[in-house]
Formats: sequence, C-alpha cells, structure tokens
Amino acid sequence: MPVQVMPENTLQGIHLMGKESNSLPHRRLEGKVAIVTGGAQGIGEATVRLFARHGAKVVIADIEDILGNALANSLAPSTTYVHCDVSLEEDVENLISSTTLRYGRLDILFNNAGVLGNQSKHKSITDFDVDEFDRVMSVNVRGAALGMKHAARAMIPRGTGCIISTASVAGVMGGLGPHAYTASKHAIVGLTKNTACELGRHGIRVNCISPFGVATSMLIGAWKTSEDEEEEDECMSFGTPKGKEVEKMEEFVRELANLKGPTLRARDIAEAALYLASDESKYVSGHNLVVDGGITISRNCVGL
Ligand code: NAD
Repeated sequence: MPVQVMPENTLQGIHLMGKESNSLPHRRLEGKVAIVTGGAQGIGEATVRLFARHGAKVVIADIEDILGNALANSLAPSTTYVHCDVSLEEDVENLISSTTLRYGRLDILFNNAGVLGNQSKHKSITDFDVDEFDRVMSVNVRGAALGMKHAARAMIPRGTGCIISTASVAGVMGGLGPHAYTASKHAIVGLTKNTACELGRHGIRVNCISPFGVATSMLIGAWKTSEDEEEEDECMSFGTPKGKEVEKMEEFVRELANLKGPTLRARDIAEAALYLASDESKYVSGHNLVVDGGITISRNCVGL
C-alpha cells in the first residue's frame, strides 16, 4: 500500500489547530452565573475557586457563615455569600431569587451541600434511627430536590441551564458508607436521571458527580468519631482540615483505592463540576460522572 503524504495545507491546518488550541479561552465559564451550595469549605470551596477563576459570578450558599463570608470576601467581586440551609424551602427560594435579582439570571446550580450523618452510632440496620435518617435525607435529598425545583423555575423561561449535584460512590454501590447516607446518595442519582428526563425539553442539563474519598472536614470528622478518637483529637481543627489529619486520611484512601498513584483531592471534583458546568459538556445530561479511580468497578468492596 502506498504511503500517503499529507498535503501541505493539511499540515498547515494541523499547525494552526495547534496554535488555536494554545490560544483557546481559559475562562470556560465567562459571563455565567453559578450557585454552589455547601460552598464554604471542602469540595464546594474548591469549586467556588475554580468557577470564579473561569470567569463565573459565584454565589456561595452555606450555613457556615464565617467561613462562607471569608471565602466570598477573599474572591470578591466574583463571589458573594448567602446564608442558606438547603433543607428549608424558604432559604432555597430566597437563594435563587436573590441571585437572579442580583445578576439577572442563573446558569449553573451545584447542589453540593451534604452531611454524612453519625458514623459511629447506628451503624447496624438493627440500630436504625429515624431522626438520624430524616436529618441526612433532609439535607442530602430534600435539599437537592428543592434546589432543582427553584433553579428549574428560574432556568425554564430562558430555555437553558445546568444543574449538578454531588452524589457519591456510596450512591453507586453498597458497603461504602452509613445506611442513611447510602440511601440518600442513591436517591440523588435517581433524582438526577428523572429531572434530566423532564428538563431536557427546556434545554436544561441535569447531572451528578460521584466522588470517592476526599480528605475534607466531613470525612475526617467521621473517621475521628469512629476510631482513634483520643489520639486524633489533637490535630482536629475548625473548618478545612490541614496537615497531619489530611495526610493520614489521604493515605487511608490511597490504600483503599483501585487506581494507584494519584491522590484524590477536592480540586479533582471541582474539575469534574467545571466540565459539567461548561459548554464542553453541552450534550451530556442525566449522567453520573464517577470520580473514583475505578473503585466502583473493582472487586474489593471496602467498608469505611
Ligand atoms: P464538607 O463538610 O467539607 O463540606 C460540606 C458543606 O456543606 C459544609 O460547608 C457544610 O456547612 C455544608 N452544609 C451542611 N449542611 C448544610 C445545609 N443544611 N445547608 C447548607 N449547607 C450545608 O464536606 P465535603 O466532603 O466537601 O462534602 C461536599 C459533598 O460531597 C457532600 O454532598 C458529600 O456528601 C459529598 N461527598 C464527599 C465525599 C468525600 O469523601 N469528602 C465523597 C463523596 C461525596
């Protein structure tokens, strides 16, 4: 078979494409308006920072007012903070309406606020605690559903929008978290699919992200209450965990992980959210983007 020589104009085309790709806009959310719930720390904070760096106006919604305000001030004028308990409909309604009033629109809602629930108590289904179950479901599921409801009301008239929720590997398989948490994260995946079915006709994309273990205050707090309580108490700090506690947790997750080498960080989940929020994913809807280094397709099911 004769060797095909590329015409020069093709080579020029490739060359130009290379040049073009170097000069692609780095700000992938320029002009967009986003809300990040649970945005004061952890995965939410990393996403707020990344969205703002990519040109979005970002509203941080959380119940941790000191952390939320401090983050918003540090990134001003790109970010503002709104107190919002996602389990309360009046708070969520106020969050969406104050955002559209301030910026005239809402392009992206990241339903990220969540709680793990009490890890050490009620571990067995035989100790199932109704109040604990309701508390976890009210934040993780009711909160996300309320976000979808009020965001959809703002997005439908514009015929475009993007809703992302944080599910979990515990929403994909069993044995990775407490019962209530696992039920809540499975519910997020189902709610995402069902809402995507309905909102597709309005041009609104609905997706979720399922992370494996990230060393945030949620995970470290749970780890600390379950084991090594006395020893670990020495290094617990308020807000975003630091230093020794993060290293220990990251080591713990790396040991469990299927993919060896990299360490999963909040920034990696923020990158997944950036992809789903940007026009690069314009045809992706109803999807659960699993960011787990393959843990959910591997043989070893691990209990946290
Ligand atoms: P985090 O504790 O660092 O952050 C969670 C944030 O949600 C906090 O700022 C908290 O104040 C806020 N929040 C809690 N209840 C709220 C409420 N009622 N209203 C508004 N805000 C509320 O934890 P994180 O790890 O960054 O968790 C973020 C999301 O990621 C959660 O949905 C969590 O379930 C999910 N997730 C985390 C991991 C992990 O390993 N860290 C893994 C899978 C999924």
